[in-house]
Amino acid sequence: MQPAETFVPPRFTVYQHRQIDKIEALHQLPEHMRFEMKVVASVFPFRVNNFVIEELIDWDKVPNDPVFQLTFPQRGMLDDESYEQMAALHRTDPTAEQVMELAQQIRNKLNPHPAGQMEKNVPELDGERVEGIQHKYKETVLFFPAQGQYCHSYCTFCFRWAQFVGKATRFNNNDADLLHNYLREHKEVTDLLVTGGDPMVMRTVKLRGYLEKLKDPEFDHIRTIRIGTKSLTFWPFRYLTDPDAQDLLALIKELVDAGKHVSIMAHINHKQELRTAATREAIALLRKTGAQIRTQAPLLNNINTDPNMWAEMWKEQTQLGMIPYYMFIERDTGAKRYFELPLYKTWETFREAYKQVSGVSRTVRGPSMSAGPGKVEVSGVSEIAGEKVFVLRFIQARNPEWVQRPFFAKYDENATWLNDLKPAFGEEKFFWEDEYNAM
Ligand SMILES: *Cc1c(COP(=O)(O)O)cnc(C)c1O
Repeated sequence: MQPAETFVPPRFTVYQHRQIDKIEALHQLPEHMRFEMKVVASVFPFRVNNFVIEELIDWDKVPNDPVFQLTFPQRGMLDDESYEQMAALHRTDPTAEQVMELAQQIRNKLNPHPAGQMEKNVPELDGERVEGIQHKYKETVLFFPAQGQYCHSYCTFCFRWAQFVGKATRFNNNDADLLHNYLREHKEVTDLLVTGGDPMVMRTVKLRGYLEKLKDPEFDHIRTIRIGTKSLTFWPFRYLTDPDAQDLLALIKELVDAGKHVSIMAHINHKQELRTAATREAIALLRKTGAQIRTQAPLLNNINTDPNMWAEMWKEQTQLGMIPYYMFIERDTGAKRYFELPLYKTWETFREAYKQVSGVSRTVRGPSMSAGPGKVEVSGVSEIAGEKVFVLRFIQARNPEWVQRPFFAKYDENATWLNDLKPAFGEEKFFWEDEYNAM
């Protein structure tokens, strides 16, 4: 493995939706594809950096290249009616305001805030809503630092898409005291999960402001600090050559040395993302701090439906010192229509992949839906007393008592999400439904 010093720090260049024509690699594509991209990118957020364009996309495989699909807007992300409306507007040389207004109408139809996260997850402190914190599962607090509410590049399927186009209130907080006060008051919390956007777009000094204090004895109950990020594959120079890369690694090591379990929750959708020397070096340097790296990603139509790819990816991750953690099911928001798969397919794909890896990689759980009541795993498809059913269980739940109790839904080959499912065996409701509705 090359030492960090041998990496020439590339200049970070980023393209947003008004700059689609400036991306030279796109000039090899037919003109109509660029037009489609501009239309779709006026509804969904678009942002891609030079590293992803130059190192991670195989341009001779475009449009089928998985990382191209992962970062560039696709025609199929919009239904025909919405697409035609926006395309017609684009042909009239519209003002930015006109585009924005139509975009907002289309976005409102796309369930911008799924799983009740705005109403049900925001906690209170001294009678006030604590914006920028979500506390859904007893032991884990999610924190959305204000400076971390964007990413090095955006993923086309992202369930947080609405945050990046300024829909309603941007969900964030830049008040370190508020975070610390909340955690001080909540001794039942063992895990802090810093999320975004991507917290690793923040300068280290900011991150330090939030995290350093957790070394104090009054925060001994916070045992685990997780940081969710895509940077390991989309901008590995965050750990190699950015001006504050060394300080970032030092901060992580300090937290580890103070007795915290630090876990980098790396978002990796396709094994192709793991191929650069820079990413491999960043993984090695992070591992040297004593932090763990866990990996997670949703299963996405048009990007990563091949179970053999998943098996190979999990094996490679394990070999590189990472721990496969979650396979998610694409959430019911945004461009779901383009990325969704029937639930039975998600289970088949998971199973086909899982059966190929050794126990060391079977740390991965899934396929899992992050739904209103909790994280619901599709454990299988079975036939019980003559009825074909989905076997389901909560991996996490708003009420911990629901966890790990199998429950059953009627088999439905078209179902893609929890709310498509009906209880099996003639039951009227799932066992958790009354309690959930009362919450
Ligand atoms: C997934 C998730 C967590 C973490 O759950 P784990 O099973 O501990 O990984 C915490 N809060 C929310 C809102 C989540 O969606």
